[in-house]
Formats: sequence, C-alpha cells, structure tokens
Amino acid sequence: MSAEDSKKRPAILIIDDDEQVRNLLREILSDGNDCALAGSAEDALALLGTESFNLVISDINMGGISGLELIPRVLEQTPDTVVVMISGQQTIDYAIESMRAGAFDYITKPLGIRQIHAAVRRALEHHELLREKRRYENHLEDLVKERTAEVEHLAYYDRLTDLPNRVLFADRCAQALAIAHGTQHQTGVLLVSLDRFKKINDTLGHDAGDVVLTEAAARLRNCVGEADTVARSDGDEFALLLTQVSEAGELANVSLAIADAFKPPFQLGRQEVYVTVSIGIGIFPLNGEDHSTILRNASAALYRAKKQGGNNCQFYAADMNAQAHKRLALETSMRRAIENDEFITYYQPLVNLASGEVVGSEALVRWLHPELGLLPPAKFIGLAEDTGMIVDIGDFVMSTACAQTRAWQDRGYGRLHIAVNVSARHFRQPNFLDRVVQILKETRLDPVCLELELTETSIMENPEAAVELLTEIRNLGARVAIDDFGTGYSSLSYLKRLPIDTVKLDRSFVNGATSDPDDAALVMAIITLAHNLGLKVIAEGVETDEQMNFLRLLRCDEAQGYLFSKPVPAEDFESALTLAPQRKLSFLARSPRPDLNDYSNVVNLASKPIRSSGR
Ligand code: C2E
Ligand code: CA
Ligand code: CA
Repeated sequence: MSAEDSKKRPAILIIDDDEQVRNLLREILSDGNDCALAGSAEDALALLGTESFNLVISDINMGGISGLELIPRVLEQTPDTVVVMISGQQTIDYAIESMRAGAFDYITKPLGIRQIHAAVRRALEHHELLREKRRYENHLEDLVKERTAEVEHLAYYDRLTDLPNRVLFADRCAQALAIAHGTQHQTGVLLVSLDRFKKINDTLGHDAGDVVLTEAAARLRNCVGEADTVARSDGDEFALLLTQVSEAGELANVSLAIADAFKPPFQLGRQEVYVTVSIGIGIFPLNGEDHSTILRNASAALYRAKKQGGNNCQFYAADMNAQAHKRLALETSMRRAIENDEFITYYQPLVNLASGEVVGSEALVRWLHPELGLLPPAKFIGLAEDTGMIVDIGDFVMSTACAQTRAWQDRGYGRLHIAVNVSARHFRQPNFLDRVVQILKETRLDPVCLELELTETSIMENPEAAVELLTEIRNLGARVAIDDFGTGYSSLSYLKRLPIDTVKLDRSFVNGATSDPDDAALVMAIITLAHNLGLKVIAEGVETDEQMNFLRLLRCDEAQGYLFSKPVPAEDFESALTLAPQRKLSFLARSPRPDLNDYSNVVNLASKPIRSSGR
C-alpha cells in the first residue's frame, strides 16, 4: 500500500431514494469518510463507473433497479467494494436475500447512530481484509509467473554460460532446416570441444573450469553473427548453428576464426592457461536431411578431430559411418565376450632390480576375438570404458589374477605379488571395495600380495572420495600404486597427500632416461622424492641394459619391460618360473658385472626377448 493510499479517507457511496435518509447518513459518516450520494441505483452505477468506493450503503427498495439487483453489479465492477443494505422491513427474509446477493451486512430502519457506526466500521475492516487478500494474491501470481519464466529458462538455457542448451539448440536446428529447405542456402552445425578440459577441472578445480567455460562461451559468441546460435551442448562441448551459408568454405573460415579466438591464454587468477579446440562440422543438405542426422555426423567429425590429437577441425566424411559401424560391431561382440571366456589375463614379470628376482607380475588383459584374433587392450579398453563393460572386465581380471597368483604361491614359487589395473570407472563403482574384499576371500590371496594400479587422472576425478577409498583398501592390507606416473598434470608434491605405496614411472621417461638429460633428471627427481616419502618405485617399459643399469644406479626398486619379458599367458609365465628356480632372469646374465656373478640360474621368460633397437 502506498503512503498516499494509507492516508486516503475511506470513500463511501450512499444510495437511497429518500433524500432525508441520504443526508442523515452523510451527516453521521462524513466525519472521517468521503461520502458521495446517489438517489437511485442508476445514478449509483454511473458514479461507480468513474470512481471506486470502499463501501456502498444502499437501500433495498427503490424505484427502477432495486437494491438487491444492484449488489451483483457493484461487485462485478469493483469486487473489493463492501456492500451494506438498508431496509425498512424488519423481516429476516430480506436480510437473508441480501446476504445471498453478496451484501456484507444488513441494517434496518429506523437507523440508529451507534448501529450505523458499528456496521460501517465492520464493513470497512472487511474491505481492508479483502484488499490485503487481493494484494497477496496478486503478489503470488507475480511470483508464479516469475518462477515459471525461470523454470522455462532453466529448461532451455545452460545455467553457467546462459547459452541455449542442447534442447533449444535442436529446436533451432529443426527450425533453421525447415527454412533452408526451400532456399539455395546451406546450414552448418559446428561442434566445438575444448581439448583436455578435464585436466583443467582435475588440476585447477571446478571453479577454474567454470571460468574457462564462461570465457570460452563469450569468445565463441564473438566469432559468429547475431542471427547464429551458440549453445552449450555438453560439458566441454559447444554447438554452433550457422544459417545463410553459401558455401562450405565459409564454415572453414569460421573454424579458423574460432581457433584464433582461443589463441590468447585464459587468465585464471595469476595463472595463464592455454586452451585449444577440436571442431567437427556437419552441413545441411550435404551431410543429411534432418537435424539429428547432421548433428550425429558433426559429432562423428568431432570425434575424428579429437582422435587426431585435438586442435584441429574436421568436416564430416561419409566413411566415418563405416567406422561407427565397426565400433558398434565391436561393442556388440564385447557384450558376449565375457560369457564366451574370450578375455584372457596375461602376466608381465616385475623384477627386483637389486636381486634380479621375479617378485611378481602385472596382470594385463587380452581379448581373443573370434574373428579379429588376439586384441591388445588399446583396441578395446576405451570402448569398454565408454560402455561400462570395463567394470566386468576389470572384475574378471582381478579375480583370475588373484586366483592364479595364489595357485603359484601354493605350488611353491614364493610370495609372488600381483598388480591389477583399475580403470576410473571401475574404481567409481559403489561396491568396488566390497568386491575386492570378496575376491581376496574367494581366492584366499593374502591382501599384501595384491597391488591396485590407478592413474593420477582417476584419483583426481574426485580426490577426497579417492583418498578415503584408497585408505580403506590399504586398511585391508592391499597396496596401491600410481600408474603411468608423470604423464598426468599433477605435481610431484601431491604424492605426499595420497595414501599410496608405489609409484610406477611411466615408460616415456624411462625411454628417454639414457638419451635425454631432462628425462634423466626427472627420473632421478621422482625416484628420490618417492623414496623420501617411503614409496616404492617401479620403472615401466625397460627395454635396454643401459636403461636398467641407470635405474639400478638410482636405486629404483623394481622394473618391468620387454628387456625381461613381454606380457605372457599364465602357462608361459609358470614354465619360466619352473626353469628359473631362484626366479632370476637372464638380464643379469647378459650384462655380467663382478658383483652380480652369483646370479646363475637365470632364464628369459619371453620366448623371443625383444631388445629395444633404434631408440
Ligand atoms: P599399463 O598399465 O601402463 O601397462 C603396461 C603396458 O606397457 C602394457 O601394455 C605392456 O605390454 C606394455 N609394456 C610393458 N613393457 C614394455 C616395454 O618394454 N616396451 C613397451 N613399448 N611396452 C611395454 P598393454 O598390455 O598393451 O596394456 C596397455 C594398457 O591397457 C595398460 O597400460 C593398461 O592401462 C591397460 N590395461 C591392460 N590390462 C588392463 C586391465 O585388466 N584393466 C584395465 N582397466 N586396464 C588394462
Ligand atoms: Ca598398469
Ligand atoms: Ca603404466
């Protein structure tokens, strides 16, 4: 209520065909109220058309329109007006009829001053109540309208960037194609994905990720015209709809403009981050007739752009469909593979560099595909991760590897360890820990002999949860290793905070350790730091004697690589163990050093050892 409203005196309309009654009422009520008078219902209606009244006091019996007939018409015009009827009759029937017609109160003649004051006070209070109620209702209605608009906005726009979302984008695509159908113009869909965005999220946090996305959205907006749509279609993926394209070359130009727009670094606090983009392009009518086909094809093009290492742009080409089919066929056959026992666990020995002993192995999965033959993990792990099959595969490898290791232990090959790779998706399963416990129990393997290998990336997906889970795994007695160490974005210092036992030095550093001084320095730094933190270091991908000697010099604990053996099936691994009773390998024999002469009974596990050449 405005200040003016609240100061306003109540307006009362007095209607009676008897002038004396009118004047009497005015006299009684004009102290504190503004009174208007009407001699008939007709006059009253004319007045009501121009002014509004808080209260109407009306006689029931008048010539022309009667008081009873007047009530609904007053209420129709101004619903908040309160009507009080006056009657010469004392009978209750009139009172009831008045109330039915919508009057608030009823007073009878002869009029008493006190009776009138009381009735008017009650009526005006009621009027205030009605107004309050109406104000509240209006307010509610506004709120509902506002919220509805908000909800609609949420349904069609991305919260973070305020760009249209994928739903609205699909809608706009459909509209644009409907319009383009009759014209010479083409319509382009560009899917733009930020390369390695996950790393930014993982290492710098989600707030930083949000800053990058928001800024990326603004840069993309600047690359296209007013009439074009820029939408956020998914996590780090944006979708652009360009209408009025006269030739495909224009789309290539837009792509170049986008690549240029991403050249300046993103400023995240004091840190500068460089972000490149991959772009996939689909064109109507060239690549399809309807928007879902074009989108799917743009997405296939984007996939290829990503596959080629990112920072590039690909137009859709029809042969991509063939690739997609191949993938689908692989997916279908993978679903049957578990039941058909097509997955096989291979074992690659882990060698203690000080003693030359085989101390255990890493379990590495293979897929014996009925048509394609023996497939290495690189051919199917990615797909298995996408489809979720990795959970079953990982479970299979863990249980076979634990059972096998326990069997070797039982047959007297010593306390061999087993390392099992755990993919991020598998690790995220709510029952992961329970399964580990169950497998250890079923296979009767001492938990100390099991080491789970995780990558930095899968830990950094949700560091707090990971730390908690890793702690529980170690409480079981099992061990935890960081796989491919050094390839992630994380710094050495975060090693301190992780509940782990082992660092597996990535092959790429080992590879360069004897040729590239930078790599050598890094390997040295990692080993020293890990040892200071009480962690064991395993070098991966050791292929040459030189590498091995360098690692031994640095007191690297264990090594794994083609120099000792490729991953082999369980039978081959076992026969090699049988041949080498002390579990010592030929690498020591091949590079005899005076202090190593006592390593005699050694054998190479691989039937044909691969000695790295040309590196
Ligand atoms: P990874 O865990 O880093 O495993 C080591 C890989 O390096 C193995 O490749 C192994 O054959 C290869 N390797 C070992 N020594 C040498 C060497 O001296 N030189 C070279 N060039 N390579 C060497 P593989 O078996 O093809 O496995 C590739 C990746 O697939 C593994 O990398 C691992 O990330 C994944 N993987 C394998 N098995 C499983 C599994 O059961 N579950 C999950 N989640 N991932 C698996
Ligand atoms: Ca591994
Ligand atoms: Ca590795």
